[in-house]
Amino acid sequence: MRTAVDIQRDMQELQRRLEQLKQELSDLQHGCRHDFIRTPYMQMCRKCRMTESLSW
Ligand SMILES: [Zn+2]
Repeated sequence: MRTAVDIQRDMQELQRRLEQLKQELSDLQHGCRHDFIRTPYMQMCRKCRMTESLSW
């Protein structure tokens, strides 16, 4: 059976991975030539999934 320490170690590993993925997504969105799909309230790029709110 896994111990609490094992689980915490896994959580830390996943946290690190999540930060890497956030950075990767951010880089991708930064370099994207956006192609937005518009709704009345927001727009979302169909390529990189970046969203922007259109509410004031
Ligand atoms: Zn985009």
